[in-house]
Amino acid sequence: MTLSDEELERYARQIVLPQVGGVGQRRLKAAKVAVVGAGGIGSGVLPSLAGAGIGKITIIDDDLVEIANLHRQPLFHESDAGRPKAELAAASVQKLNHFVEARPIRERIGSVNAPRLLDGHDLVIDGSDNFATRLAVSDACVKLELPLLSAAAVQFQGQVGLFRARPCYRCFVGDAFDADDCDNCAELGVLGALTATVGGFAALLAINILAGIGASQAGKLHLFQADQLRWRTIQIPPDTACKACGSA
Ligand SMILES: [Zn+2]
Repeated sequence: MTLSDEELERYARQIVLPQVGGVGQRRLKAAKVAVVGAGGIGSGVLPSLAGAGIGKITIIDDDLVEIANLHRQPLFHESDAGRPKAELAAASVQKLNHFVEARPIRERIGSVNAPRLLDGHDLVIDGSDNFATRLAVSDACVKLELPLLSAAAVQFQGQVGLFRARPCYRCFVGDAFDADDCDNCAELGVLGALTATVGGFAALLAINILAGIGASQAGKLHLFQADQLRWRTIQIPPDTACKACGSA
């Protein structure tokens, strides 16, 4: 995969970084990323991925924009109310960087369609708003052997974790939430500045993974406490009885 003169000029400020260079930039261009959820986390992740020159981005979301989304979803504007998020988010990515191929999928992802929708990507970023979706996405990633970057923000807490084979996201949360499809943000509240912080952190982790920067983050969960402005990192232990990855 080669870079045109226009691309070299466009990405000059990141290609000049020794950790990225031409090799890293070509890796980003070759990468195919699926983003589940074009909400608050998606709004934080997508512009950074598009700006960095990720080659192909699939955006999966079946929701329509509501005015109550706008405080945390700057991908959208007042005039977008009632319109589909996946299409709007893909158009925004495309407008920011025409070298990126953005594909919107207006489907609700679940255990039945997740393997089909996620297959063929190099990385899945889950910014969805409920446990049932997160567990379905995680199980599909285990099955497809895809790395899963899971990001969430609710109230004053944020978390970002990378799951690769074992431990998986199900090892972390268990099986109790398979039927839980409540919208956490709608019920519990969240600040837009927090989803932006967590989304930005997730984008940075994604770019590091795809460009091959830094040590492996697999199995690490990064937790942010917004009212104390403090990050801490914990290691997730694998669950030997996990029904997704336990017997693998
Ligand atoms: Zn597991």
